[in-house]
Formats: sequence, structure tokens, C-alpha cells
Amino acid sequence: MGLYTTTNPATGETLATYEEISDAELQDLIARSDAAYRSWRTTSPDERRAVLSRAAEIHRERSEELAALLTLEMGKPAAQAQGEVALVASIYQYYADHVEEFLADEPLEISGPGTAVVRTEPIGPLVGVMPWNYPYYQVARFAAPNIALGNTVILKHARNCPQSALVVERVLTEAGLPDGVYLNAFISSAQVADAIADPRVQGVSLTGSEKAGAAVAEVAGRNLKKCVLELGGSDPVIVLDDADIDAAAAAAATGRLANGGQACTASKRFLVQAGVYDEFVRRLVDQMAGWTPDDPTSTDTKMGPLSSASAAGELDELVEDAVSQGAELLLGGGRTGEESAFYRPTLLGGVTSRMRAYSEELFGPAGVVYRFDSIEDAIELANDSPYGLSSSVFTSDDEKAQQIAESLETGMVWINSTSRSAPDLPFGGVKRSGFGRELARFGFNEFANKKLVRNA
Ligand code: NDP
Repeated sequence: MGLYTTTNPATGETLATYEEISDAELQDLIARSDAAYRSWRTTSPDERRAVLSRAAEIHRERSEELAALLTLEMGKPAAQAQGEVALVASIYQYYADHVEEFLADEPLEISGPGTAVVRTEPIGPLVGVMPWNYPYYQVARFAAPNIALGNTVILKHARNCPQSALVVERVLTEAGLPDGVYLNAFISSAQVADAIADPRVQGVSLTGSEKAGAAVAEVAGRNLKKCVLELGGSDPVIVLDDADIDAAAAAAATGRLANGGQACTASKRFLVQAGVYDEFVRRLVDQMAGWTPDDPTSTDTKMGPLSSASAAGELDELVEDAVSQGAELLLGGGRTGEESAFYRPTLLGGVTSRMRAYSEELFGPAGVVYRFDSIEDAIELANDSPYGLSSSVFTSDDEKAQQIAESLETGMVWINSTSRSAPDLPFGGVKRSGFGRELARFGFNEFANKKLVRNA
């Protein structure tokens, strides 16, 4: 049987292992989830609000302790780990505050006699498959709206953050969630497929790689189950001649390097207009150079290790591939040691479409900078990607910004800022970045039965 393992990426030390559960134990979890659904769906918005509010409160009360586990399991710098916990608290709080509003009937204006309303009802037990890059946040985006809606959740987390996975379940239980409404499951990919296929389960949400997304969507499709996918991204940041270059460079560095660059909406491609290209690159290099990889437990550290030594190795292959084909190393780069998980901030120029770094996702602290002349060129380059998650435009001309926003094939566009996440903003992409939306009212409605009740 496969293992779920805590390995501190900063030291390479393995600290804890957990075995996958058996097929019989998974059956038991599905039965508990199903039984819990039958009663949880009948609870009042007030009961749900109380649990969600308490979950938010626990995150605020125990911020340091919860954050420390993120630092331990995936190397997130302490200050950013606390930032994640605060964001998660705000997500639980947001759904606590909006549960009643989001569950309210929507009366329809109809042409005939009588009345028609759309009710918002839950659909049943759901499976969530989540990654390690934001262990609490990724779960909260899926679990909070669905708990508020009345669904139940079986959660398969990434196998390198088992303690964070267990803590999510513990916190929700402590917040008063009844048995079975949220269940952690240390299961294999094959067992994920079994769970999706089970007739009691009504849907699945996955955040992770395209490969995992395709595997899960295939099983969901075959079994006619609703599926939401939040996959990779290669977000472009377009900087026009009239932008505030200082602000753009500072935002770009943070957008690329926060969380060690391991975010689907990290800024990965910098498209800079010719008139400010040299200036922008100089400032971006200066900014990025200040992100020295260091001990993630220190609150002064901005960048820790990547999630594993192998993740650093994979990033290095993409950088090496580009450099070996003539790309210019503007800053960096590379690992701090041969088997190290620490990777220096890296910036590439002169990347062409033959190189892997042109079209593949750089899931770590390495960015690519491109020069463009016309706005049309920028849009073409930005859209020449298999991904379509988020994007940014820096300019002082709002009209131009709006035009560019309209032309970008992405699920999100940020003007004069890089991408962020907040409970009240929908999150999701197009193309190979996936489908469906998380957070805000949109996330609440993904696994809802929008039931028409027509009284003739
Ligand atoms: P994966 O997509 O492999 O892992 C994400 C989750 O999916 C994990 O829980 C994983 O479980 C699970 N999973 C993987 N394959 C299957 C499957 N066939 N059926 C069911 N569940 C599955 O990501 P990695 O950690 O391997 O990272 C690889 C790349 O994925 C990154 O370099 C990045 O490009 C992308 N990624 C994107 C993220 C995002 O936020 N959009 C987050 C993480 C990664 P298990 O751990 O057991 O394999």
C-alpha cells in the first residue's frame, strides 16, 4: 500500500508516514458521508453558520500553530504560511456570513399564471482531490461553500502533506461539524476513481496538474458525475510603456516568487513593451535578487525551499532546456546544491517557442521575459499558451486596459496588480487551466441543484 509522508523539504528529513486506507475502509467513509448528508442537508442556515464561523475563529486563534505545519510539510515561509491561514479564516467567515443569502429562493418573472422559484439545494457527497501548494486554502475553497450548501465532503489530499490534511478534519470537527460531513481519506488514485464511480457520490473537484485533472475528469465523465477542475497556469503580465514601472516590477517579483513560485496563478511570463523593456528588466532583476532562499521557519524569510528536491530538479530541467537552446539567463539561477530543494530566483530572456519554458508551466521561482512592440503582438503572445487561468495588465490608460482584458483568453484579468485570491472573487480558468469556478457565489453554485418549483 502506498504511503502519505511528511518530509521536511528544508532538511530532506522524513518525519511521519501514514498508510493508505483499505477498500473496505473507503466504503465505510462513503457510507458515513452519505448518512451525514441525509441529516446535514436538513440543518438550518444558522446551524451551518455557527460551524463555519467557529472554524474561522479557530484559524484566527491558532494561526501560528497551523501555519507551522505548512512550513514543516511544504516549506512555506512562516509569514506566508500565516497569510494562508488568515485567508482561510476569511473564506470560512465569508460563507458563514453569506449562507442564508446564497440559499435564498430566487423568484422568476414568468409570462404565464402562478409562480416560479429556483431553489438552491445540495446534491450529496462529493470527492475533493487537492494539492500541496496551499494545503489549507485549496481545501477551504472547496469545502467551505459545500458545507454551507449542505453537501458532504470526502477529501483526498496530496500525499506530501498528510498532517495538514488531518488538521483540516480536526479543526472542522472541533468547530462542531457533525460526524461524516467532512472526512479525510488517505487513498490511492485508483480508490479516488472508485469513490467517484460510487453511486452515492455526486461530484468531484480537483486542483492540481493537467494529468491528474484529465484522469479524474475521465472517470467523472464515464460515470456522469459533475466535475470542477482547477489546473495549471502560465499567467502573462503585460507591461505597457505608460505603466508605473517601479510598481509593476515590484508586483511582478512578488507575483512570481511568493510561495516559492508554486502557484497556479503565479506570474510566469512578463510581456514588456519595447520602450520600457530594459528599464523594467533591470528593476525586476533587482527586485527578484532580494528573494534569497533561506530557512522557512524564520519570519524574515521570503522564499524557502520548493516542496521537494525533485520539484527543484524538474524546474531546473526546464531552465536548462531553455539555456541549452540559447535562452539568456538574466538572473540566477539554479539549485543551491545538487540535491537541494532550494532554488534561486531565476529570470530567462530570449525564450522561443522551441523551448519547453515557452509553453510549459514553470512551477517554481523562474520567470520568462518577452519584448513586444504593439498591443496586438502582446495579446497574441499572451494567448499563445495552452493555459488560460489569470493574467495582468499594467498601464495608466484604463481604456487600453479594458480592451486588453477583453482580448485575453483567461478566466481572470487583473489591472495594475498581479493575481490574488479573496473569498468574494470567483477563481478559475479556461483552456487547459480547467473549468468551473471556485469561491464567491459562483463556487457555492457549482455543486448545487438549482431546482425549479413552478406553481401553476
Ligand atoms: P498532482 O496533480 O499530481 O497532484 C495534485 C493532487 O492530485 C494530489 O492530491 C494527487 O495525489 C492527486 N492525483 C494525482 N494523480 C491522480 C489521479 N490519477 N487520480 C486522482 N488523483 C490524482 O500534482 P503534483 O504534486 O505532482 O505537481 C505536478 C504539477 O502539477 C506541478 O508542477 C504543477 O504544474 C501542477 N500543480 C498545479 C497546482 C495548482 O494549484 N493548480 C497545484 C499543484 C500542482 P498524490 O499526491 O497521491 O499523487
